[in-house]
Amino acid sequence: MAKRDYYEVLGVSKSANKDEIKKAYRKLALKYHPDKNKGDKSAEEKFKEGSEAYHVLSDEKRKANYDQFGHAAFQGGGQGGFGNFDFSSSFSDIFEDVFGDFGFAGSGQSRRGRRNNRGNDLRYDISIDLDDAFKGKEEKVNYTTYKKCKTCSGSGAKPGSKPSACNYCGGQGKIRSSQGFFTIQQTCPECSGEGEKITNPCNNCTGAGKIQSNESVSVKIPKGVDDGTRIRIAGKGEAGTKGGSNGDLYLFISVEPHDIFKRSEENLFYELPVSFADAALGATVEVPSIDGGKTKIKIPSGTQSGKQLRLRGKGMPILKRNLLGDLYIRVVTEIPTSLTKRQRELLAEFKNLEDNKSNPLIKSFFDKAKKFWKK
Ligand SMILES: [Zn+2]
Ligand SMILES: [Zn+2]
Repeated sequence: MAKRDYYEVLGVSKSANKDEIKKAYRKLALKYHPDKNKGDKSAEEKFKEGSEAYHVLSDEKRKANYDQFGHAAFQGGGQGGFGNFDFSSSFSDIFEDVFGDFGFAGSGQSRRGRRNNRGNDLRYDISIDLDDAFKGKEEKVNYTTYKKCKTCSGSGAKPGSKPSACNYCGGQGKIRSSQGFFTIQQTCPECSGEGEKITNPCNNCTGAGKIQSNESVSVKIPKGVDDGTRIRIAGKGEAGTKGGSNGDLYLFISVEPHDIFKRSEENLFYELPVSFADAALGATVEVPSIDGGKTKIKIPSGTQSGKQLRLRGKGMPILKRNLLGDLYIRVVTEIPTSLTKRQRELLAEFKNLEDNKSNPLIKSFFDKAKKFWKK
């Protein structure tokens, strides 16, 4: 069966904004949710289809890709592909997003505490030079985070004391109520879903279970990182509480534009100005390469402006592969912008000696022009 257009699936126009998309999906999800349509295969399909559409259209980057390439944007295991679209895990994110902190009653196990206990992820932005991206770099990252409180081992309760069960939810962490079509369960507002309350808080962390701390971690930035590369340092985010795991630290790397080299993935480019005499006579020129060194290149005699030379293996490293891209050098002939008296004399003399063979392009063009004028 051909895949339906995502906008059509949600019944919104291409110009619909985020809120309209969310609203449309909310409506569809309420109508076709499997809990409401037990055993109805077609409802389940519609629900999945809608959720997939929402997964794409609710995300700016994915939406832009879809708008440009259609379904092809997510096929064939390419970036952001749906080859491994995990419905169950994506659904929980989608529901958090669309329905807030509500869980559908009866849909799987209770997620009590799971979300609350894991520590927050942290983001750290770092900017590096292109030549550092070429060589790779060890970077010391200093940041502020929350670490597990040692006094109470993260429990938040004064050592020797124990938290007591929350009266409001009877220790469940969730309360059930009816809203619209559904029985929904809501995080207990009294205990924030923990199911228990600390009556005797730890002095060191005032019951939070974690304390602010300055940390430093050494991060290896691999050769070949590109602008926008994200490095995840597992477990270096904020501490989890009550046995929850730590969050992660993410390094967002931006690579500064370079004075000489322009980059496109693993390849590098620049324009090399060459004097018209060198271009005519031929020359050997030492040019910069990204490793900081010099590379000798030969400009053959009669090189035209715009001619591109390719130096294999003089580009950027390809991440996680022992390969290098290429360096493309575009020759641009520079015509003298000022002439001495003597230079002018020599050029005038040169001009007198010019013939049809010296400038085949000029000859060919005016041969055609003459024919055209004779018509
Ligand atoms: Zn503590
Ligand atoms: Zn409670």
